[in-house]
Amino acid sequence: MIILLNSDICPPFYNSFTNEAITACYHEEEVIQTKGVSMNTRYQLKNLNLTNTVFLIVTPILAITLTTYIFLTQTVSMPQYALLIFFYFATGFSITAGYHRLFAHRAYKAHWSVKLFFLLFGAATFQNSCLKWATDHRRHHTNVDTEEDPYNIGEGFFYAHIGWVLLKEKEKYMNQFPKDLVNDKLVMWQHKYYLPLCAFMGLFLPGLIGMAFGSFLQGFVLAGLFRVVFVHHATFFINSLCHMVGSVTYSSEHTAKDSWIMAIFTYGEGYHNFHHTFQTDYRNGIKWFHFDPSKWIIWTLSKLGLAKNLKITAVEDIELAKLQVQMEKKLVSSENGGLNDRLVTIFEQLRTNLMEQKRSRRLGDSDTLGQLCQQYSYLLDHFRNLSPA
Ligand SMILES: [Zn+2]
Ligand SMILES: [Zn+2]
Repeated sequence: MIILLNSDICPPFYNSFTNEAITACYHEEEVIQTKGVSMNTRYQLKNLNLTNTVFLIVTPILAITLTTYIFLTQTVSMPQYALLIFFYFATGFSITAGYHRLFAHRAYKAHWSVKLFFLLFGAATFQNSCLKWATDHRRHHTNVDTEEDPYNIGEGFFYAHIGWVLLKEKEKYMNQFPKDLVNDKLVMWQHKYYLPLCAFMGLFLPGLIGMAFGSFLQGFVLAGLFRVVFVHHATFFINSLCHMVGSVTYSSEHTAKDSWIMAIFTYGEGYHNFHHTFQTDYRNGIKWFHFDPSKWIIWTLSKLGLAKNLKITAVEDIELAKLQVQMEKKLVSSENGGLNDRLVTIFEQLRTNLMEQKRSRRLGDSDTLGQLCQQYSYLLDHFRNLSPA
């Protein structure tokens, strides 16, 4: 079953269309740059979360050293490579389709067995319990690009990627969790036993399976340590590069970007501008050809009866958001106030028409949406030939 999102529960993305407001939007990055705190003072010993800092420094060193030792002194069998690949995908998708889209955004509902799988293999990534992870992530969406954003890209690439994990958490956020997550027994069970779970699922289980294939060390190092480091940085990219690299397609009100290249590195989370604009949609890449394996997994689970209530955004909202961004770019590049006003007026008419049609739900079997959007798109392409009247 697929649920069509009501625009009322989608984040608002319509601004007042004054030139000043739109220009301010495009200069947002300059403002954000001034918020950074000096690296020298921020990463002092007294500010560091020592457990996280030691773990994030020691694991890559151990992973590189032991992986090199294994490749120089031993033969790695095919089942060990298969184990590495299985753990790479099982743990990565547990973060993107599980921690992120299922628990943080409630973009769909899943059978308890699927939830348990995501919670077990999510723990194996050493990225905190799902309760903590999803809480931080909701705060990221609510306060994106501000000082209250836990991985605010305005503080620079290093901070958003890994720096924020190295630092002690602000006291006011400690043990503050959303009710729906606290009421989820499986989520709370994983939170309670997080440390033994992540040690077992992340390191010892791959070691034990590796032992069945002939070498505990190879399983422990390749599907365990090496994979932990790899999945760490692949998913950390979502907070760093996905707010830096790519295009602004659906909203210029946040720094999130759309990039198919980033989607390849992040299990399909690279269409981040769409995601921040329509955060409860179970998809990040909305076209069939968009590389979003997390979306394909959720869709497949729904066909198997293991997931339901997949939320998707109304096509009218998506088209309007896209045209609004295109219009904003035209307005920024034009100095002709008369033309700008006309584009805005026509856009407002388009919005009213589409919202009316959405309400009456007649769009699915007519091409009115396509025609209206095409007309406005044509107008934007040829706006210099318009008369301001
Ligand atoms: Zn983000
Ligand atoms: Zn999100």
